[in-house]
Amino acid sequence: MTAQQPMRGDVAVLVPAAGLGTRLGPGAPKALRELGGVSLLAHTVRRLACARAVGCVVVAAPVGQTDAVYAALVADVPVGLDFRVIEGGQTRQDSVAAALAAVPPGYPIILVHDAARALAPPDLVERVATAVRDGHDAVIPVLPVVDTIKEVGPGEVVLGTVDRSVLRSVQTPQGFRHDVLAAVHASAADPLTDDAGLVEKAGLPVTCVPGSDLALKITRPLDLVLAEALLHVR
Ligand code: C5P
Repeated sequence: MTAQQPMRGDVAVLVPAAGLGTRLGPGAPKALRELGGVSLLAHTVRRLACARAVGCVVVAAPVGQTDAVYAALVADVPVGLDFRVIEGGQTRQDSVAAALAAVPPGYPIILVHDAARALAPPDLVERVATAVRDGHDAVIPVLPVVDTIKEVGPGEVVLGTVDRSVLRSVQTPQGFRHDVLAAVHASAADPLTDDAGLVEKAGLPVTCVPGSDLALKITRPLDLVLAEALLHVR
């Protein structure tokens, strides 16, 4: 008798991975850099696949690398997960919009997750998806800000100190009702650095849930060292 394949969920995750990652120094596009012998993108997809809520993953790959990215990742994709790779765009927002357009019918919840947050754990993915399922239009994982934050003006002269108790550092995956994300992308004007920003601009509420230290954004060379250490700790 064949064991029945467990059902996967109604969440589609868009993975913008088309950035060059110049802040990481010269080399391959960031999502294809390796951490512990595995690309950042493969780490990302493996963790997303561990979240049972996730039924579909759409990766926005660097221009000209769609086939290579698909071939490199397909072995990490479990049976039953709808996995697609499309070509990314000029900006992160373009890449997200292209990935959203590639989501097949049947996914009322959409998460957007930067490939650069390669170690975001499956329980964070589930937490964000659950908050959307519980009725929130848009959900972001956040951490408290630990540094003192100054506003500066011309000549790097301090203008004032911001009250950090009301600040949050924002991570991905960010979660949305599918119709809400589609509507705000359709009417988006200037590119923003995250999708929740589009929802805010549309005047809709964005709700915070606790983030994870593991969901750090791998941006600068030191982040790679830290991420490598976290990989071994885990
Ligand atoms: O540049 P930044 O670090 O904000 O990029 C965040 C994420 O957006 C990265 O995972 C990057 O690969 C992705 N990105 C993209 N398409 C672009 C630029 C960035 O998918 N044109």
